[in-house]
Amino acid sequence: MKPITTAIPYFSESELRCKGTGVIRLDPRFAEALPKLREAWGPLSVNSVCRTPEHNKNSGGNPNSLHMTENPKWPTFGAMAADVRWRGWSVAEQLRFARLAYSLGWSVGLHNGFCHVDRRADLKLSNLPQSVFLYGEWDKSFSPSDVMS
Ligand SMILES: [Zn+2]
Repeated sequence: MKPITTAIPYFSESELRCKGTGVIRLDPRFAEALPKLREAWGPLSVNSVCRTPEHNKNSGGNPNSLHMTENPKWPTFGAMAADVRWRGWSVAEQLRFARLAYSLGWSVGLHNGFCHVDRRADLKLSNLPQSVFLYGEWDKSFSPSDVMS
């Protein structure tokens, strides 16, 4: 599998690149799935997609984060995660988006400011199954089980 290093449908290079280094390196499964999520939902604004390992470390990311362009733990071919900005959406819209993403095979991390979505399930690893989880600051307007139901 070859990493994608350019813009993809609906998403510009500036939205995808590592904020610290400018690198774009997307896992091809993620690069195919993100435009499909955009088509199913409508316009999406992403905060954070690629992070090089150094930038991830400097910005306090999880050491095995699926945002990383090269992953020390998981067999990815580039970044597999995006943070979708949803501050200001209604709770109903947030729940609808999280459920849609989950139904399309995304793992979902709930945060007040953004919805983290990643393609971990595409790795087909028994120790990294599709999941819904809390990602830092979350005011509990709904729970992971609401997303999976
Ligand atoms: Zn994230």
